[in-house]
Amino acid sequence: MIDEVVLGLFRAPHSHTSENVVEISCHASSYIINRMLQILLQQGARLAKAGAFTLRAFVKGKMKLSQAEAVADLIASETQAAHQVAMRQLRGGVSQEIAALRQRLIDFAALVELELDFSEEDVAFADRRQLTALLHEILQTIERIKSTFALGNALKNGIVTVLAGRPNAGKSTLLNALLQEERAIVSPVAGTTRDTIEETLNIEGVAFRLIDTAGIREAGDQIEALGIQKTFDKVKNAAILLYVFDGGEQSAADLAADLEKLHHGNLQVVVVVNKMDLLAARSDLSAATLQLQAGGEGVTWVYTCAQSGEGLEALKTAIYDTAFTPAARQAVAGSDTLWCNTRHIEALSQAAAALQAALHCIGSGNSGELLALDLRQALHYLGTVSGEVSTEDLLESVFSRFCIGK
Ligand code: GDP
Repeated sequence: MIDEVVLGLFRAPHSHTSENVVEISCHASSYIINRMLQILLQQGARLAKAGAFTLRAFVKGKMKLSQAEAVADLIASETQAAHQVAMRQLRGGVSQEIAALRQRLIDFAALVELELDFSEEDVAFADRRQLTALLHEILQTIERIKSTFALGNALKNGIVTVLAGRPNAGKSTLLNALLQEERAIVSPVAGTTRDTIEETLNIEGVAFRLIDTAGIREAGDQIEALGIQKTFDKVKNAAILLYVFDGGEQSAADLAADLEKLHHGNLQVVVVVNKMDLLAARSDLSAATLQLQAGGEGVTWVYTCAQSGEGLEALKTAIYDTAFTPAARQAVAGSDTLWCNTRHIEALSQAAAALQAALHCIGSGNSGELLALDLRQALHYLGTVSGEVSTEDLLESVFSRFCIGK
């Protein structure tokens, strides 16, 4: 006697994998589990590899590859937004549109292939005008999908948000206040945050990956210099910069100089004027003149007192609004599929290149053989999205992301 268990029997095809399945629910002792596994293995059972059950469900045609990937995303989702993106993908929306277009392309490709059999006779079964229109239609669809990727990816993986500013501006205090915990070291000694700290802040169900950085100034030593260099690296990869301005003593000129140094193409900037309690007491600078003197077009301004917590709600709203344009907010709230998988986007890019080559072939009146080759390539890449076309390597890389037992 090892344990008293519950056996659940799922008869084919009414199981996740469409096969006969027995599930054993036992008590959660690692001794019991190991003992039972030993016995089952002695009786000829095999241990499942990562994702083995979802792979079987895919092979049995119960789900598309993109849906299987959505299962992995669902398991990994930690916020409402990530869950929602995975759920929409699981419902199959992602690949349906592509599969339909691919089917239409298959019909044309078959005609082009047929022409090759009659190459001596110089016939064209596939109407080049209609084919060209279809190729454009698919390319446009791919472009549209690619344009939603940034949003889907941000919802799935979180939005990289970097806190930067001069030493002692209050970055660490602000981070702790936002997270409502003592995560970063707060100290009146400048230059104490030397490494970067990353924490997730959830605003309205979306993950913002807040990264606290070393203060920007002339480094006092080598370690601090490395920290400052890291700050610049982090800002380079960020979507949002929260520049923390020290309302107690910083000048508008310093702010303008730092923004100039940190800015890059896709960066959204929020200037957090912290220590507003001290700013109010200053004779040299007021909130109004600060904005005028520092300039910074397209920058959002928020005033906080990190110590008392004043302005924090406004800051969270500003972060959220900076990340999402009204159109993006609508997309988040809507039910359309948001593409968020890098593998899909890469496959679509490859398909787009092949489609462009096919268009070029038609335009320059190249032989049908080259056109057929480009179409085959495009069909291959389009097919890998939902898994109509799959190779062992592809399946291996998709399912190895799963955990054992899924
Ligand atoms: P960091 O170097 O930018 O991370 O700055 P810290 O968060 O370590 O803060 C530096 C000092 O400023 C600490 O003594 C904080 O208590 C203080 N401080 C932070 N926020 C405020 C604020 O809003 N008002 C005032 N008066 N002091 C603050």
